[in-house]
Amino acid sequence: MRDSVGASPVRRFDVGEEVVVRYLTRVGSGVGMTWPYRVVRDDEELVALYIPTGSTFMRWHTPEPGRRELVEGEWRRDVLRLMYPEKAYSIWLFWEGEGRPFTTYYVNFEEPYRRTAVGFDTNDHTLDIVVAPDLSWRWKDREEFEALVSGGTFSSEFGASVETAAAEVVQLIESAQEPFSGVWPQWFPPEDWTKPVLHPHWQDEPPVVWEKRDWAYPRSHPTR
Ligand SMILES: [Mg+2]
Repeated sequence: MRDSVGASPVRRFDVGEEVVVRYLTRVGSGVGMTWPYRVVRDDEELVALYIPTGSTFMRWHTPEPGRRELVEGEWRRDVLRLMYPEKAYSIWLFWEGEGRPFTTYYVNFEEPYRRTAVGFDTNDHTLDIVVAPDLSWRWKDREEFEALVSGGTFSSEFGASVETAAAEVVQLIESAQEPFSGVWPQWFPPEDWTKPVLHPHWQDEPPVVWEKRDWAYPRSHPTR
């Protein structure tokens, strides 16, 4: 593990500790959408993070075409985010609505996470899978993902790697393997957990860029 990023050491986080998950922009070293979470579990197999309804997160707002800025938003569901070392996806569980029923597993394809002093850095890869509690599933934003590959924003090799990761997850879903085994939907947060808040350094802590970024997003680096 790296010794340090910024002023604070990079380490595993304690249960209940507040962290931030940041999406880094594909170009430059910008910090984009960012969420506060509480740590449910952080070990060599799994990082599990929780954000409840009503938490404040940072989202993109487009005041006019061609310009965007980060603004505060209100998070609208209870979400447990499961992240696995070196995996190009995370799996989210949604509880939402009256009585807080478990409604959805959501597979988010994304950069494998990197640790920072205040949490984790990643970035979204557009493709998702929406999985019902009975494990029936459908693609989300597949056409948009395929357009990014055919248009060259994503390299074809990288696009193929996302498809490989997707096939791996579909196999987990269709064979009802962890985390689609029916245990996690019964999880609930400790009663004394308050809403997590964004770390004061959520935007300042140096980003930890994905080492495969130039390979994955060639259009963002025309000189390479
Ligand atoms: Mg996504």
